[in-house]
Amino acid sequence: MDELCGASPEQTYLKKTSYTARCARASRYLGGVSGETTTAHRRPRKIPDPVGQQCRSTLRDVDVPHYFRERHVRSGYRPLYRDWRYYSLSLFHWHNETLNVWTHLLGALLVLLRFAQLAQTVDFAGDAHAWPLLILLLSSLSYMSFSAVAHLFGGRSELCHYAFFFLDYVGVALYQYGSAVVHFYYVPREDWHWHRPWWLRRAFLPVAALLCCFSCFGCCYRKYSQHSQLERAHKLGQVVPCAVAYAWDSSPVFHRLWGCLPLCDGDAAALFHAGQVAFFLASAFFFTLPVPERWLAAPHRLLGLGHELFHTLLVLCTLCQIQGSHLDYLGRRALYLHLHGDGDAASFVVLFVAVAISCMLIVIVMMQKMKQLLNSRHKLL
Ligand SMILES: [Zn+2]
Repeated sequence: MDELCGASPEQTYLKKTSYTARCARASRYLGGVSGETTTAHRRPRKIPDPVGQQCRSTLRDVDVPHYFRERHVRSGYRPLYRDWRYYSLSLFHWHNETLNVWTHLLGALLVLLRFAQLAQTVDFAGDAHAWPLLILLLSSLSYMSFSAVAHLFGGRSELCHYAFFFLDYVGVALYQYGSAVVHFYYVPREDWHWHRPWWLRRAFLPVAALLCCFSCFGCCYRKYSQHSQLERAHKLGQVVPCAVAYAWDSSPVFHRLWGCLPLCDGDAAALFHAGQVAFFLASAFFFTLPVPERWLAAPHRLLGLGHELFHTLLVLCTLCQIQGSHLDYLGRRALYLHLHGDGDAASFVVLFVAVAISCMLIVIVMMQKMKQLLNSRHKLL
């Protein structure tokens, strides 16, 4: 991983001094009232905790490179070039990424629990019609876990930042494809399906797969060009491909809801799909705009930031989507057996693998470009 993230001289020095080892020693010393040497009458000494404090201390935005800074977030940044253990343990400390990590980590655990629950009643191995639901579960797990890893370790160095966030975008693209598959397979009304020419029906998922790759590239390219001053334009470069992909992937959901809201005649699955749309639109709002931090009176507050709300709402969107898709899988079997051929589900799995490989290739190419850019910049310094 050091090769991936580029060990700097400063980092090498810090490794020699074993920063976290000092933290661990300090913690043992300061908290050393347990174990065989402890006696009931001996009280822990109250002494200053300079090393422990250093482990938990964070920096202001002006003390970190500009590509780590979040708009309107003035403090809470972790120092760069510590060892991996430092960033792993920072999961339990308070900094600007703590909630970003935990929201998607807990989300991934919830999806994993739901997966285990569903596996007791759904034959994921033997029933090909359950594979779209399986793709949604796997893609949800991948985007949440990649995101948690990116927020936890992306602050280690410049190359780590780009490598892990590029991986995060692969997870986003996979989740887009997972959404498109369940929406196309279980969700549409019969008239949505048959009122389209056959070639458009056949093209729905290949187009969705292309849009996934396009949004992965758009997100990576926006990160790559973050050195420029055109921040607003680059954010659009990330948001527009994702919005186009979302509109395409969710068109069967919109059509179904259009015909049944607000009550949907007791169609519980449709209500869960309405919930996923509402949560997604709310999450997109907080992703796109730097609110509420723009209006916060306390500029050093790290709780309730827009990106944390975005993560939380996206987890709720995913849980609604899984629930709605599972209800459709159970309740609309006659319809989707009628709409889709026997080999369709298998071809959608192949396309899922193709999307994963294509996005990884995009990330490899973008990482090469990123390394070239950083090398040329370091030569100029
Ligand atoms: Zn995030």
